[in-house]
Amino acid sequence: MKVQYFNKVGELKQIDPATIAALDPVSATFSFRTNSYYNSLINWDDPEDPVRKLIMPDLQELNDDLASDSLNEIKYYDIPGIQYKYGDQINLLVTSTCAAICRYCFRKNLLHHGSTITATEMSKVREWLEAHPDVKSVVVTGGEPLILSTSQLNSILTTLQEVESVEHVRISAKICSFNPYRILDDPGLLEMFRERCQARLGNTIWIGNHFSHPKEITDLSREAVRLLKATGVGMLNNVPIVRGINADPDILASVFSGVYEMGISNYYACVLTETEGNKALTLPLEEISRIYLAARKKVPGSAKTARLTIKRERGNVSVLGVSEGRIYFELIHSEYKDREGKIFSFKSNPDAYFLEDYDEVKEGAYDWL
Ligand code: SF4
Repeated sequence: MKVQYFNKVGELKQIDPATIAALDPVSATFSFRTNSYYNSLINWDDPEDPVRKLIMPDLQELNDDLASDSLNEIKYYDIPGIQYKYGDQINLLVTSTCAAICRYCFRKNLLHHGSTITATEMSKVREWLEAHPDVKSVVVTGGEPLILSTSQLNSILTTLQEVESVEHVRISAKICSFNPYRILDDPGLLEMFRERCQARLGNTIWIGNHFSHPKEITDLSREAVRLLKATGVGMLNNVPIVRGINADPDILASVFSGVYEMGISNYYACVLTETEGNKALTLPLEEISRIYLAARKKVPGSAKTARLTIKRERGNVSVLGVSEGRIYFELIHSEYKDREGKIFSFKSNPDAYFLEDYDEVKEGAYDWL
């Protein structure tokens, strides 16, 4: 099936010219992209349609003064493609293109410039990995790695598997939600995954999916997931909690259940990062925690596995919940290994959107966060 991509709001026949003109200031600030498959999931008569809100610009994105690179991504590029912060894991950014653009993307101003890692850069990546044998995990990301051609992906995965010290490869991919035809229409891609999964025992390839709303779980996306699983890849899901899209216990529970029924492990539920344009798309942290805990109550035990997580510049924090006037967290990943697993709490602040809004962080006592 030929899927058509749209890179300008003005290319969408479903949007009237006055709305397109009104959105000009947002389009001038942030990139836009969608495709004909994803558009087909939208009820265009409903301005509140959650799938529409996931990709359509909104004037509210201009209403905050958050940083465009709140996680200081730029600072950690060691060589082109490799982002190394600490410990035994790197991000390998292989393309800056996605099959559509999520409005809440924390890389929304750092991506979508159309670049792809080159063969020369991949050979430098290989040299870098061989010189850093402590790095055991590679997260292949972007952008959308699965938008690359099958031969490009094969070459990237083969290179990573040839480095003895690399034990885990995880591909961050929203393609099963945004365009399952990429999987359904390319038997060569499935064969490539099958071969890569068999190539090296113990070097399992994982796909970190990104189902955000039950409307994204269609017969086509289910079939794409089924075919990918049959190749031997492991499947995980990360779901960001987004105002107007899935910030509701019933909807979030449907995502957890829908993902689980496809045989995908619920891995993370994410709080949006403190990135330019995101304030209007997120909610106060303690409200998110309540929604997440209420959603977990509605699903079977083995579907409750996603941890509510905040991505930080040099680690990840899990939100445990609010009790007796305090909000509790666990540091689940950190540059400071000896602090990993640490439970800490702040005085409850129902108006706080981000950790930086809590007095304890403002006062500087948590510079390790
Ligand atoms: S798929 Fe991922 S990288 Fe692409 S726009 Fe969405 S959040 Fe960003």
